[in-house]
Amino acid sequence: MSSLFPALDNAPAKSALHFGDQILDYPTLRSVALTLAGALRDQSRVAVWATPTPHTAVGVVAALLAGVPVVPLNPKSGARELAHVVNDSEPSLLLTPPGAAELPPELAGLPVLEVALDAGAEEPPAASAIDPEQPALVVYTSGTTGPPKGALISRRAVAATLDALADAWGWTERDVVVHGLPLFHVHGLVLGVLGPLRRGGTVRHLGRFSPDGVRQALTSGGTVLFGVPTMYHRLAEAVDGDRALADALAGARLLVSGSAPLPLPDHERLWQATGRRVVERYGMTETLMNTSVRADGPPATGTVGVALPGVEVRLVDDAGRPLDVGDGETVGEIQVRGPNLFSGYLNRPEATAEAFDAGGWFRTGDMATRDSTGGYRIVGRRSTDLIKSGGYKIGAGEIENVLLAHPGVAEAAVTAAPDPDLGERVVAWVVPRDPADPPTLEELSDHVVGQLAAHKRPREVRFLAALPRNDLGKVLKRELV
Ligand code: ATP
Ligand code: MG
Repeated sequence: MSSLFPALDNAPAKSALHFGDQILDYPTLRSVALTLAGALRDQSRVAVWATPTPHTAVGVVAALLAGVPVVPLNPKSGARELAHVVNDSEPSLLLTPPGAAELPPELAGLPVLEVALDAGAEEPPAASAIDPEQPALVVYTSGTTGPPKGALISRRAVAATLDALADAWGWTERDVVVHGLPLFHVHGLVLGVLGPLRRGGTVRHLGRFSPDGVRQALTSGGTVLFGVPTMYHRLAEAVDGDRALADALAGARLLVSGSAPLPLPDHERLWQATGRRVVERYGMTETLMNTSVRADGPPATGTVGVALPGVEVRLVDDAGRPLDVGDGETVGEIQVRGPNLFSGYLNRPEATAEAFDAGGWFRTGDMATRDSTGGYRIVGRRSTDLIKSGGYKIGAGEIENVLLAHPGVAEAAVTAAPDPDLGERVVAWVVPRDPADPPTLEELSDHVVGQLAAHKRPREVRFLAALPRNDLGKVLKRELV
């Protein structure tokens, strides 16, 4: 494998990183990153205080050029999570932006190096000599279902996933990728920063996500938008009365959503306002990207598309036997195999062993159906989204989509509660649009029965001011008890 970033060798005279009013072109990024790479060469593992600034991108690129694995840290994570990540990953150095706000005590004792955006004495690039199986990144999972686990992601996996996405999305050096994602997860960092740099294109980071920022970026050169469903929800809410935003979204080459299911009502509203269909892709920290709706394929609302090139995807039953189905109905667990997979969890040999079956297939824990075109529709996670009620297996996502289409519902999540008759019963957690006039259980139940089978109706509704979510907007169902 050649270098992760061929465009840094050629260093074309075009912008690589564009964060607010800070712009680094390829020649500048090359010299700044090579200067820093020289200072990192003897480190064993470098943590990066992953603020949404060019310093994070430069720090990560420099470490990758030096062949040193990177642990991105969430600057907003609480003391406990930070201590967990730092104690688990044992970095030898911390990279921060200059004058970073006071660092928390959990990081005391860790040598700190501030990332400068000026060039100095450059080290010659070493990337071509680095073993592709060496870890590029240690990324912690989002902690949606338990404490975050550090996934060792090789350089081979980063290259494989980004090149597969290039194929699926027709992603080239002409693309300017707009996003406001955090830079300490796969979505914002691997897809949103390393992706454009591997293609020789441009990252346009919004600093902080806002519909206005999206409009401005897409009308001044942005071609592709990356976002999580909570961002597309905000765009769907904003776009109705905002012609300029609708035009900007309609003019983008590609709108991509991932990290969590995009609710159907948001899909539909964006489509009606802009004539554009948001493309969904599906991945995990451990696997990078597995499937996507293709830019050159048919629009496929509500599905996460087909297997990416080079990735094997299959569904298995509860006993782990492959389900050879294409009926769009039979639900199985998604398993994946391919060059995009991680190398294991850091310090967790048992969790790593449990994650794979004997044939090397990774058990995702996500449940889905497959249709006759090979398109996957995610039903939810085996651990939190599958409700076994009255002899039926019910996916929470389907009921959530129907609840969200009710005019009185702003946000909805569905969970299971133990039930003496049914085994489990469907519980709806609802954030009402008007807290003074929330919809009743009967109304919501009738609304669901109008569209889905009767056994899918909620038996209980609980109202909340907001759903508990993590920094990617994923609903933390384990807190809904
Ligand atoms: P943890 O593993 O720590 O509990 P997590 O699984 O949320 O957290 P990530 O690796 O960031 O951590 O997220 C991967 C999960 O996100 C997938 O297993 C899947 O459940 C969900 N996901 C990602 N993309 C999509 C999508 N397009 N539609 C539905 N779910 C998605
Ligand atoms: Mg997970």
